[in-house]
Amino acid sequence: MRIYFFGGAGEVTGSMHMIEVNGKRILMDCGLYQGHREEANRLNRNLPFAPRNVDVMLLSHAHIDHSGNIPSLCKNYDGDIVSTLATRDLCAVMLMDSAHIQEKDAEFFNKKIAKNPEDEITPVYNYDDVSKCLEQFIAINYGRPYRLADGVTLTFHDAGHVLGSSVAVLDIQENGKTYRLVYSGDLGRKQIPILNDPTLISGADIMLLESTYGNRVHDPIEIADNHLAEAVHTIYERKGKLIIPTFALERTQEILYSFHKLLKTGRIPRLPVYVDSPLAIKVTDIFRLHPECFDEEILSLFENREDPFDFPELQMVRSKEESQGLNEESGPMVILSASGMCEGGRILHHLRNNISDPNNMILIVGYQAKHTLGRRIVERQPRVRIFGLEHDLEAEVRIINAYSGHADKNGLDAFALASKDTLQKLFLVHGESDQSEAMAERLRGQGIREVRVPQRGEYVDL
Ligand SMILES: [Zn+2]
Repeated sequence: MRIYFFGGAGEVTGSMHMIEVNGKRILMDCGLYQGHREEANRLNRNLPFAPRNVDVMLLSHAHIDHSGNIPSLCKNYDGDIVSTLATRDLCAVMLMDSAHIQEKDAEFFNKKIAKNPEDEITPVYNYDDVSKCLEQFIAINYGRPYRLADGVTLTFHDAGHVLGSSVAVLDIQENGKTYRLVYSGDLGRKQIPILNDPTLISGADIMLLESTYGNRVHDPIEIADNHLAEAVHTIYERKGKLIIPTFALERTQEILYSFHKLLKTGRIPRLPVYVDSPLAIKVTDIFRLHPECFDEEILSLFENREDPFDFPELQMVRSKEESQGLNEESGPMVILSASGMCEGGRILHHLRNNISDPNNMILIVGYQAKHTLGRRIVERQPRVRIFGLEHDLEAEVRIINAYSGHADKNGLDAFALASKDTLQKLFLVHGESDQSEAMAERLRGQGIREVRVPQRGEYVDL
């Protein structure tokens, strides 16, 4: 058997791994690389393998850094893409949104950056490419073994990271030997709202485990609601606007559920809450179709005909006109909008219109990568550029670190150690080197024989 680490190795974007077993090639995830424009363009347009030679693909979850380059793959690949049902449904809206961003990006490049007509680019993929790839999905539920290839049985288990996210367990027979390979995808954390805890898998011989927070411990999730309630109280008294940049998938639904609980228990005053992101609205609708992914708390609400993602003060903003109309309305109010790192989407309009008023507040609830507007806001830079114009950052900025969809070092260790007795080789992927290396060192100390941190482009024979 050979494992290729094509992406999401030594880094946290563009996840893509391939295993060769019994002469078949199985692709695990096909993520979009997100980073500097030039490098992203180069990597996303040139897959590091021949798509025609792939026999079958499995997809761990719907985040774009794991699924976002499937439309490119399928330009030259006609095989199956196996995922959970929720992942397939989320991909339908997430990949269409990604195609829209690719088209806008190419438009921007050709207008503002390309100097000559021959420098102009086409989008990495378009809506037609997305439609085609959606025809190739095969969806299976958690815990239902599926024959993926000769001698390879795939079973998905709940990863508890986002709706539909899975840990892929491959039970393999090759040359008369039997072994188990586990790919964690992105691993969630215990006790996050809405989802089940990540499933621990025993008996793994080989494991590819993410290491995003391989050397960090998260704040307890329970304090997130308290911080949110404090922010709402402050904005209510000031009659200001609370702007929350949020990811369309999972974080939006977590925040809505927090509002649902805080309002129900009277812990916050009643004020209008707007979700101004067409993608987040579509994703929230998909949540309601997948009770198989919910934890007991959410299921019991649905049994009582209570919708955890709704409350009387909530308004879903669909049209552009309604979105612009929010500028004219006076506070107090809450606006949730995407993108989560303030790199595009309607959040930019709300920031432009509200960032210079000290009565307002920007509440950061997610990770902000380097070189993004979100990061500059977190750093409280006095002036920030939005749509090419400088604005004074006068609004209050608060940060809630307790929300995170990834396991921290304790969660990751528990996952690896559940297979301690059998684990021969552990590969730490999806992490920056400071996190992965510290985690490797620690797990070696806990008795896991071989722990490696592969880099993009490496392969190993086993
Ligand atoms: Zn993810």
